[in-house]
Amino acid sequence: MAEQAIKLGGKKQSTFIDKVKELLPEGGNLNLCLTCGACSSGCPATGLDGMDARKFLRMAALGMDEEIKKSKWPWMCSMCTRCMYVCPMKINIPQLVYNARKLTPREERPKGILGSCDMALRNDTCSAMGATEEDFQFVVEDVLEEYRESQPEFSEMKAQVNKQGAHYFLNQNSREPVTEPDEMVPLWKIMHLAGADWTYGTKGWAAENYCMFLADDENWKHIVETKVKAVEDLGCKVWLNTE
Ligand code: SF4
Ligand code: SF4
Repeated sequence: MAEQAIKLGGKKQSTFIDKVKELLPEGGNLNLCLTCGACSSGCPATGLDGMDARKFLRMAALGMDEEIKKSKWPWMCSMCTRCMYVCPMKINIPQLVYNARKLTPREERPKGILGSCDMALRNDTCSAMGATEEDFQFVVEDVLEEYRESQPEFSEMKAQVNKQGAHYFLNQNSREPVTEPDEMVPLWKIMHLAGADWTYGTKGWAAENYCMFLADDENWKHIVETKVKAVEDLGCKVWLNTE
């Protein structure tokens, strides 16, 4: 992994980290870092464009707001929260990263994430790939029929859409119905063998939420509310989000 030196420059008094501390319970322990490196060692983004979670935290603590803003590091993080779980001081680095993303104006954030968030806002499926209610239902029914016919042991398998009162409401990443529809089937089989009463909804079926990754609070909330409404409208008891 290439070493990336931290160059001190500009103002030392951070406004960014102070704002994040205000959001976190007891300041999120952001000053308590032992520089042990456990966060970086388990981070799946370590080394991407020199990404180093420990250095990122040090940069924030040193008030290097401009350097953070210019860096790609905030966009390398997958928000997996692994660093927080291994951190002996329970420092919430993903929350810090989330807020670091907001240092960049929305329209200047990475195009892929921005476009996926905007696409998901276009209709109530919440699909970042723009798949419609009709497309999703057609693909599910088509794939189900194919598997029921070709695999007699699963001839009774169900993959219902808009079943009122089902126990579980299942979400599905858009990539599967759009590009790899067969990838939906293993989960159907598990649900079938477990005897689970489940359904998809034509509304709110897409599991992904790129507005969260975009650090767009308002639209993240809108996407979640759309999905919650879909679950409630069908009267399902449990929402199984596969993302
Ligand atoms: S794991 Fe926690 S204490 Fe250790 S370097 Fe990372 S943030 Fe600091
Ligand atoms: S939340 Fe981000 S910084 Fe922390 S381990 Fe995951 S990818 Fe790395």
